[in-house]
Amino acid sequence: VQEEELKRVGLKVTSPRLKVLRIMEHHADSHLSADEVHRLLIHAGEEIAPATVYRVLSQFEQAGLVARHNFEGNHAVFEVEQGEHHDHLVCSSCGRVEEFLDPLIEQRQLAIAREHGFTMTSHSLHIIGLCHHCSETARQQQTANTEGEG
Ligand SMILES: [Zn+2]
Ligand SMILES: [Zn+2]
Repeated sequence: VQEEELKRVGLKVTSPRLKVLRIMEHHADSHLSADEVHRLLIHAGEEIAPATVYRVLSQFEQAGLVARHNFEGNHAVFEVEQGEHHDHLVCSSCGRVEEFLDPLIEQRQLAIAREHGFTMTSHSLHIIGLCHHCSETARQQQTANTEGEG
């Protein structure tokens, strides 16, 4: 299956490409950094250099197999391109990435582009903050500090 996909996008089938593609498709719902992809490959018993993983991911990005998102602080993650647009919420504490799609936001962006005479070809929106878990942790720490003062 992965062989076909590589051929379909015009990439030669090589062992590193197959390995990286397999891992990415295994974690199709995840947003993984190049380091995380490398760690997963090592964990799966594959010997592959970090630089190779990075190069293959860049080739996949150019071929449209994966999407790359550059979140704050050089935090670049890759996800399998499934053809369905979505936006992201990014936790600045633990790096967790969640997806959302809001029809109203999508419509407004189109309308804004149109108002400015733009033909929108793409957009990227990500909300930075603390995820549910980290918000809760921060709240508990705050409570503990307040109690300590009193
Ligand atoms: Zn978090
Ligand atoms: Zn995503």
